[in-house]
Amino acid sequence: MSKFKHHSNFPKEKDVQNYLFPNLCFECRKSFKKPQSNKSRICPECGGSLVEVSRKFSAPKSTDNPQWEKVRFLVQYGFIFQSVYEQRDDLGYYKVNYPKTLKEAQEFVVKYKEQAISKSS
Ligand SMILES: [Zn+2]
Repeated sequence: MSKFKHHSNFPKEKDVQNYLFPNLCFECRKSFKKPQSNKSRICPECGGSLVEVSRKFSAPKSTDNPQWEKVRFLVQYGFIFQSVYEQRDDLGYYKVNYPKTLKEAQEFVVKYKEQAISKSS
């Protein structure tokens, strides 16, 4: 049993609670930091539903329409800023950068569709 890692290597309950994820409202174009939850969340400003995305997401300015359109598009297709990988010629997997424009995003969601996250709700 000595192969197992010591317990201190695992996150504690308290840490999980303090671990906040961006929750997006596409109506207000705002990001709200909240602990992870499976419950659906409501935007405190407009009452619309929030979408939880990866902590790697950083919100564009609320006035940046093209960027928010791109983000909404990606999320619709199951790309919530989770890590996405591509396999290269050496058969290794490499992390892919997220697209910078909506046009790039349209190619991105097709190319990496196997890695999209499907929401069951
Ligand atoms: Zn809102």
